[in-house]
Amino acid sequence: MSRAQQPPGSPLDGDIGEPPKLTFPDGWTLSGAWQRAQRADAHLGPVDAAHFDVLLSRESGDWGSRHRVLFAIQNGALRAECDCKSFTHRDWCAHVAVLWWRWVREQLGVRDLDADDTHLSPPWWLAVHDQETS
Ligand SMILES: [Zn+2]
Repeated sequence: MSRAQQPPGSPLDGDIGEPPKLTFPDGWTLSGAWQRAQRADAHLGPVDAAHFDVLLSRESGDWGSRHRVLFAIQNGALRAECDCKSFTHRDWCAHVAVLWWRWVREQLGVRDLDADDTHLSPPWWLAVHDQETS
């Protein structure tokens, strides 16, 4: 299967509207998706400036199905979207979680599509509370 090269800097052209902002559901640090993201083996393959192909291992040790995940900064917000069922229902899934997990550990580069810049960890303005604040 051959795909035409996307012109640099415009991987989202042609998408309808803005991709959704990543939102963390209540109690997300306790979610199954997050637990799985931390434990599972993962293959992450950049597709273009905005998308990654994500393959996660299952508890049973075999590989789940590959999902294409949009994970990029646009208009000052982190955009995330996955084509899996979990994301469709909950706007949150292990595929997005594993990208976030890798990113906060500086194991992933995330593109800022407006600045044409790559962030190797979440910028301060994207900081998320990952524990209950008291
Ligand atoms: Zn997913």
